[in-house]
Amino acid sequence: MGKGSADRLNQLYSEMFVLLEEEKKIRKETENILVKANTAIDPRKEFNKWLKSAKGIVWKQKQFEYQESKCAYCSESLRFADAVVHHVLPLKDFGSAANKPENFKLLHPGCNLSIGTRIVDF
Ligand SMILES: [Zn+2]
Repeated sequence: MGKGSADRLNQLYSEMFVLLEEEKKIRKETENILVKANTAIDPRKEFNKWLKSAKGIVWKQKQFEYQESKCAYCSESLRFADAVVHHVLPLKDFGSAANKPENFKLLHPGCNLSIGTRIVDF
């Protein structure tokens, strides 16, 4: 291999090295952006925010009346202050799509825990 070829090869290697460093940097930046995006659309956070909003509060009151102060799971009487919102289709598997009032039921905290992420037919 002539000197010209060796120089050319060295040059290509340094260019490749620069590109690999840039790729590493872009990869890191992309990861950071994805972390931020996932936090912004975290369905659990989205739900908690909704529940505290005026819409969420009104929904809970109406739903409590609709369920006639009873737990949707065990049908025993339920106190408004104890009522927790259960996702029929679990957040874990359905993400933001599960954050719809038609997917919510009011339950005793214990009933909610015992169901966990099983899908129950109410
Ligand atoms: Zn119950």
